[in-house]
Amino acid sequence: MSGTLADPIAPTPIVQLPRRVFDGFGFSSRSVSMFACPRSADEVEHVMKQAAAEGFTVALRGSGRSYGDAAMNGGNLVIDMTGMRRVLAWDPATGLIDVEPGVTIEDLWRLCLRDGWWPAVVPGTMFPTIGGCAAMNIHGKNHFALGGTGDHIVECDFLTPAGEHLLLSRTENSDFFHAAISGFGMLGTFTRIRLQLKRIESGRLSVEQIPVRNFDEQFAYFEEHRTDSDYLVSWVDCIASGSGLGRGQIHRGKYLHASDDPEGVALLEPSKQDLPGTILGVPRGLVGSLLGLFNFNLGMKLVNFGKYYAGVLSPRAPYKQAHVAFHFLLDYVPTWRSAYQPGGFIQYQPFIPKETAKQAFTDIFRLNQARGIVSYLGVIKRYRPDNFLLSHALDGYSIAMDFPVTASNRAELWKMCHEMNEIVLAAGGRFYPAKDSVLRPQDFQRAWGQQRISAFRALRNRADPNRVLRTEWATRVGVDPTEGS
Ligand SMILES: Cc1cc2nc3c(=O)[nH]c(=O)nc-3n(C[C@H](O)[C@H](O)[C@H](O)COP(=O)(O)OP(=O)(O)OC[C@H]3O[C@@H](n4cnc5c(N)ncnc54)[C@H](O)[C@@H]3O)c2cc1C
Repeated sequence: MSGTLADPIAPTPIVQLPRRVFDGFGFSSRSVSMFACPRSADEVEHVMKQAAAEGFTVALRGSGRSYGDAAMNGGNLVIDMTGMRRVLAWDPATGLIDVEPGVTIEDLWRLCLRDGWWPAVVPGTMFPTIGGCAAMNIHGKNHFALGGTGDHIVECDFLTPAGEHLLLSRTENSDFFHAAISGFGMLGTFTRIRLQLKRIESGRLSVEQIPVRNFDEQFAYFEEHRTDSDYLVSWVDCIASGSGLGRGQIHRGKYLHASDDPEGVALLEPSKQDLPGTILGVPRGLVGSLLGLFNFNLGMKLVNFGKYYAGVLSPRAPYKQAHVAFHFLLDYVPTWRSAYQPGGFIQYQPFIPKETAKQAFTDIFRLNQARGIVSYLGVIKRYRPDNFLLSHALDGYSIAMDFPVTASNRAELWKMCHEMNEIVLAAGGRFYPAKDSVLRPQDFQRAWGQQRISAFRALRNRADPNRVLRTEWATRVGVDPTEGS
């Protein structure tokens, strides 16, 4: 084993490893850590032991696509898992694939699409690693139909800081299987993951855009079409008020059979999925800067107004859209985050049971508008419950909202988020570690409840008795009990 400053594998001692600034995807949290980039499970084990021996804690990190501090560990060690990025086995007959945890969603679709397979669950970006997706049990626009990533993991190899090498599946070490998936990297490291992919026949989806006038229409549409849609996602205008509160545009996607879309079969060739150099006639590189020009309250009011009425005035018949364009459009706008510089932004995404979601979303929007801090973009999705211990998913809805962070609004924004937490918790809701920047220990406790948290802590006592694994998120929300609690 060797290490260089440019490519640190595992030189010892840990304290001599290079340091780097790590941030969350929203740029609003940032810290400096030492880092190592192991290439194998043995190297991960070695680095982990070495860190423990020297008294450092360790955070696992994939592509760093979590918005807040879930993959950060200031002053200690970050293990960058992207060094383990090999596909270990691929069977185009069954759609089963074995990967190292640093393989990305993009790696998956580029390899498997031409054989007629697509990852059953993808987030809104293709850059996350499979390890990061498993640790967060991520969701796509089809959670109501196919569940989260964990529902498509068949088995995995797992290494705990205590040095146990475990095979996890629904039948082997099933308690760890159901807790490590959704366990935000606090029980150990996925070192191999076997996934079942989804069979598809066309490189395109049939997509419909449906304008909806308010939350009543949003929720009615989701409930009516949840059983006959493959994907449902809604853009929401968070600025509209009164009878238009919650208005927006739903996108409904359905898989196509080869017989319905013979031309779409050619789009199973991965290079045909890539988006052109322009979006709506604007060079991709300029779209982020253009968005920046509208990134203030009145500008975004105009953008939301225009988008909504364009949808109302020109209702479109279903059209065909490539999978990559449907799922990952933002990845082709490389500079969109710069619209939020210099303070960055946070994403707030609560998950609320279907019975209480409409009222809770209404209360949240009214609160935002009363405080004068509104999200410029809202996204609603529908979920089903799952069996993962600390999963965010439930039989209900989420709404994702982006809030710019500035030096002057930071304290006010956090205060408002804590008020939103109260609304979410009173409605029986949960939160999402991958998107969170504001949760407090009392919120974490109430969202998942003592029983689930105690079960998780019991597994953590076995997997990591010396508390080697640590992230800034886990410390902030109090995943480990403090004395007396
Ligand atoms: C533009 C954008 C859109 C997004 N859209 C969605 C969406 O639609 N749905 C959704 O669910 N999420 C979405 N996300 C969030 C993203 O999918 C998650 O944050 C995901 O976990 C990121 O994976 P990563 O590889 O970047 O992991 P990181 O962010 O680096 O880490 C995430 C967690 O995984 C742990 N971890 C990493 N590797 C391992 C490993 N090998 N073993 C054990 N633990 C590990 C880390 O400790 C950390 O707790 C989006 C993010 C962005 C930036």
